[in-house]
Amino acid sequence: MPVTPIRTSGRTEYTAYCPRCRAVHRHTGPGPRRGPCGARYTIPYADADETE
Ligand SMILES: [Zn+2]
Repeated sequence: MPVTPIRTSGRTEYTAYCPRCRAVHRHTGPGPRRGPCGARYTIPYADADETE
């Protein structure tokens, strides 16, 4: 599924376009996630080299 890592200042948010409800779910970290609608997907790791 298409996942777009979004870098904001200080943190990276992961916006996932849900294949189930077609909404956009946001998560604060990568890995196996479950959306609020119950759909399960995996958010891939982005190259986040900023450690704050
Ligand atoms: Zn969903």
